[in-house]
Amino acid sequence: MTVYDHARRHAWWMLGALTVAVLFVAVVDRFYGHSTLAFAAAIVGLLVANRHMLAFNCPHCGKNLFFRGLFVVPWPNRTCGKCGARLD
Ligand SMILES: [Zn+2]
Repeated sequence: MTVYDHARRHAWWMLGALTVAVLFVAVVDRFYGHSTLAFAAAIVGLLVANRHMLAFNCPHCGKNLFFRGLFVVPWPNRTCGKCGARLD
């Protein structure tokens, strides 16, 4: 599996984690009322789920696949934005 495949799998994993986090906050909101604690727990959960994001780097130059300049995007680059290497 290439680094792009791993990064793509991580992107799908994060989509699932985001869905779970939104459902968690919605369910807590529905049954216990508005809770900033539930929101904080969902954010911490998303940060924990996303802890490997910085490990998906170009094997040639080390640029992270999820960064486009200064911005982080939810889908990885297929081609390295720095050295132009094909990552798939
Ligand atoms: Zn590169």
